[in-house]
Amino acid sequence: MARRLSAFRDWDRVGDRLTWYFSVARDVKPAKYLLARRIGCTLDLPTATLDELWIEHDLATTRFLDLWTETRQRGVRLTGLPPENPSLLDLTAELVRRMMARCTFCRWNCRVDRTIDAKHGTCQLNDLSRVASYFDHHGEELVFRGYAGSGTVFFTSCNMRCQFCQNGDISHDKNNGILVTPREVAAMAWQLRRAGCHNINWVGGEPTVHLQTIVEAIRQMGSPPSRRDLASVQRVNQGTMALLLPSEEPGVYEGEFNVPMLWNSNFFMSPETMRILRPLVDVWLSDFKFGNNQCAVFLSRTPWYFETVATNHKLVYDWGEDLVIRHLIMPGHVECCTKPVLNWIAANVPKALVNVMDQYRPEYACDPLSHAYDDRYRTMARHPNANEVLEAYAYARELGLRFQDLSYEKNVTGLRA
Ligand code: SF4
Repeated sequence: MARRLSAFRDWDRVGDRLTWYFSVARDVKPAKYLLARRIGCTLDLPTATLDELWIEHDLATTRFLDLWTETRQRGVRLTGLPPENPSLLDLTAELVRRMMARCTFCRWNCRVDRTIDAKHGTCQLNDLSRVASYFDHHGEELVFRGYAGSGTVFFTSCNMRCQFCQNGDISHDKNNGILVTPREVAAMAWQLRRAGCHNINWVGGEPTVHLQTIVEAIRQMGSPPSRRDLASVQRVNQGTMALLLPSEEPGVYEGEFNVPMLWNSNFFMSPETMRILRPLVDVWLSDFKFGNNQCAVFLSRTPWYFETVATNHKLVYDWGEDLVIRHLIMPGHVECCTKPVLNWIAANVPKALVNVMDQYRPEYACDPLSHAYDDRYRTMARHPNANEVLEAYAYARELGLRFQDLSYEKNVTGLRA
């Protein structure tokens, strides 16, 4: 109990920036997807053109935002608002299915048809998804792990190629993990929430490249999973997930399954994907790594990095969403990456919560002991030193960023500025 109360106290310290997320996590408010299910659309979805679907989506999103605002300010009785058929959730799932036939999920804009297994885009994926593991993650920021963990689903593959990736076995190997259906992913979410998790943490690899599976899973969260689905997901690695606490019934709002959706991403999404996610995501957890495109190309083989990631941060911030930005201090990259990223945050999204992370360790192509080691990355084969970490923290403090609460509670060096 003491552990539980201390976690909630910490939530309260940053609660002014994560109001919506905390209220959904505590089942005081309904998750966005429960509201989106109440927004109807008039189109015949299978026969509508893509343009018609997007126009309808814009109109439905406007109505969704009105309902969301009312819910935030005054609350809403779901019992007085029956689900619509088709709803904004159905429309979103249809749009994502169409997008995948000429994939524009992320900034690579590959425009390959992922429904036929012929030519792959940068992520190398077709329309199927694999999950490497799912469990109650106790390594995330305290605001996400709380006392019962963050309900994390690790999808395979990524649209970036970070040469120091700590999840290289997942993100660089598209065949890692177990093939799953959206129905099974919905069952995982249900199991995680019933085990007490405070959120469903969509991550990888990268969740964006699995948009079709995640959106469909969210759409199907309305009904409890079947025994068969629950049995089926036992194939996937669950770590040592804690069993359901019998005295707890987390995840219910007016009788409906309720859990905040956490988008844990590199933020390399396309503008279309940002529109898709807006009525679905309750809290955004981004990774803002590089302060310039040269470093992004060298270390992650990713062009158009800075403008894409910055634009998406600005969108989320201007939408008034709950947002936590992670920035990893990399060895030798304080001047070229840390300072420009922190400068940009201070100038453009100044009230966002920031986690300036000191946990970089050489992995994958930057680890001389790894089979993947590449000597071109030898300058990355060390931890950031104390001067670099202290300089990053001091810079964030001088800029007036809100980073201490998230950065210090679990940093590995124990350094403070
Ligand atoms: S998700 Fe991104 S990288 Fe993958 S095919 Fe689509 S646009 Fe390309």
